[in-house]
Amino acid sequence: MDWDDSILTLKGVGPKRGTALEEHQIKSVGNLVNFYPKRYIDRNVSGSLDDGTESKAITIKALVCGYGRLQRIRGNLSIFSIPLLCEEVKITAVFFNQPYLKGVLKDNQEYYFYGKTEKNGEKFKIMNPQFAPANNAGRFFELTPVYSKIPGIPNDAIRKMLVQIFSGHLEIEDGLPESIRKNYQLPTMASALEAIHFPKTKAAVFNGKERLKFNEALKINMGILSNAGESKFSNISINTFEGMKALIGNLPYELTQSQKSVIDDILEDFKNGHVMNRLVQGDVGSGKTVIAVISACLMAQNGYQTAYMAPTEILAQQHGRSFNTLLKNSGVSVEIITGSLKTKERREILERVANGETSVVIGTHALIQDSVDYYNLGLVITDEQHRFGVKQRGRLSLKGNQPHTMVMSATPIPRTLALILYGDLSVSYIDELPKGRKPIKTYCYDDASLHKIFSFLESEMKKNRQVFVICPFIEASEEMSEVKDIESVYSVIAKRFDENYNIGFLHSRLGNDEKEEIIKAFNQGEIQLLVATSIIEVGIDVPNVSAIAILSAERFGLSQLHQLRGRVGRGEHQSFCFLVTNSKSPETLARMEVIVKNRSGKKIADEDYRLRGPGDYFGFKQHGLPDFGVLNPMDDMALIQKTRELAETLFNSTDKEVMAYREKVLKTFFKEVEEISLN
Ligand code: ADP
Ligand code: MG
Repeated sequence: MDWDDSILTLKGVGPKRGTALEEHQIKSVGNLVNFYPKRYIDRNVSGSLDDGTESKAITIKALVCGYGRLQRIRGNLSIFSIPLLCEEVKITAVFFNQPYLKGVLKDNQEYYFYGKTEKNGEKFKIMNPQFAPANNAGRFFELTPVYSKIPGIPNDAIRKMLVQIFSGHLEIEDGLPESIRKNYQLPTMASALEAIHFPKTKAAVFNGKERLKFNEALKINMGILSNAGESKFSNISINTFEGMKALIGNLPYELTQSQKSVIDDILEDFKNGHVMNRLVQGDVGSGKTVIAVISACLMAQNGYQTAYMAPTEILAQQHGRSFNTLLKNSGVSVEIITGSLKTKERREILERVANGETSVVIGTHALIQDSVDYYNLGLVITDEQHRFGVKQRGRLSLKGNQPHTMVMSATPIPRTLALILYGDLSVSYIDELPKGRKPIKTYCYDDASLHKIFSFLESEMKKNRQVFVICPFIEASEEMSEVKDIESVYSVIAKRFDENYNIGFLHSRLGNDEKEEIIKAFNQGEIQLLVATSIIEVGIDVPNVSAIAILSAERFGLSQLHQLRGRVGRGEHQSFCFLVTNSKSPETLARMEVIVKNRSGKKIADEDYRLRGPGDYFGFKQHGLPDFGVLNPMDDMALIQKTRELAETLFNSTDKEVMAYREKVLKTFFKEVEEISLN
């Protein structure tokens, strides 16, 4: 059997299962081997009946006493219950929708049962237990891998396919040169993969996973090393500071200590003769834009251009306005390039950028398209807001003569992780909000309170404040009638509020011109209530907005909710956020609670991690790094660092085997990055 053999060559995989597997990117034997279990069931958990709480299953040994009773409820709903005796305690095993079990469990025989127990008064139950005869328990006490659900393919079928594969003399190439493997005391790939699918012990799974993580961490480090050059000398010279000082002096507010120290970091970078690569990280509303404006002003007054990339057109427009306002008196010319420009306008702007008349260019990733020529690009700022991928960033910094780069991000990434994401870079943190900000009062309600919430929004509008109502979807959907869509919400709201209020709506499917007009009207206070999708999630900055109601809030991730809430409380007014959900699920309510109770992005990210585990750390996937697979970037920092050293050694090696390995790993890395960037 070969790694690349089609999955259809396995017994038991016909066209139907083949299609189902293919939908989960499992096309070859190798793909299935790389389909790792999500978790393992370990039935070696004895305990007293009282221990089997709701969240933890236990194994008991019990005697079947009788034949049980099958109740048909309706359709194919049924309950089968059968009395057991476990160390002289009576307990009932309850099975839902498994009528075929009647007759399988034999009277007066002993079995092991594994399941969650319940205690009701003095009565014990064990719910939907798995079981095996006590005198012939088979694999009952071995770890059982549980794979992610693939419709139409039971867990056991996957196991059987893997048994075929592993007993079919599959050649598993190790890749990693033998000497390195031994040096780091790693198992071979073949034995690691076997341990993962057919574990004898927990320790075996652990060792197997360590090997996979090692590969993953090494790959990422090698990819990053191949992207990062050593710190390059810069011939951008900055000598004139007067204009920048004047700008800072004329700001309508005083910079916070954090903002000042970020500016110091940047000035330090500009002076030290190397190309700057700096991440500026600060929570929503901490005032990152002004840092960009000050830096751009400094560049302009020393004869260099700045390119500022925003994640969306709307934000490009908005930042254009902020730049224009703040730079009004400093003689720095700002242009915005967006998709909605007419051909002629666009050509003229590009000309001014090329001949140096324009100092600051603001746009979306259109700015990295080859058609933009800069006269003298000195600084590239990416307003990250977790939207860009590493690859796009790479392309931009290749343009012109090594400009300085600065990435603005609201995602609270730990330092080491930032290193992984961005390669070699320095980090500045803005860790305070501007003075006088009042914490946003946040509440969670269900739909029954909508009218009260609307009345509240109305009272805010009466005070000349503006408000947002957010819905997850643009159109109503039949499958999810409980989820709010912007069209129906808009019509409800339009009826609810009379002509005294101007109501707008905004979503991604409107034309660019239309979007611009609406945002402009909202900025100028002509629209008091804006019904929108999460399109306003990042960056919209209107200090007069004092309330946001987020409908079907369960549909949004924690990072999104935090960003959405960050749209209010940007001025001196006390602001409010209403999370509206009809969900009763404890998980959802726990997530809502996190937002209600916490204000800082860092805290919320930590909670998000605690609730959901690794995998998608705070919208982390969108950073454009390959899937971390089994590697958990938060918990495996040490490994990531260890493999970084190895990656450096591999890069300098001239050994043929090592070089071949390096090439192969990098090929995979860039393929994965490419796939992510395309999404
Ligand atoms: P973000 O970090 O989310 O990008 P912004 O740069 O949009 O935040 O700033 C949020 C708001 O705070 C803006 O209205 C901005 O004018 C204001 N702001 C920025 N710095 C200060 C400061 N030092 N004092 C008062 N207001 C500030
Ligand atoms: Mg911002």
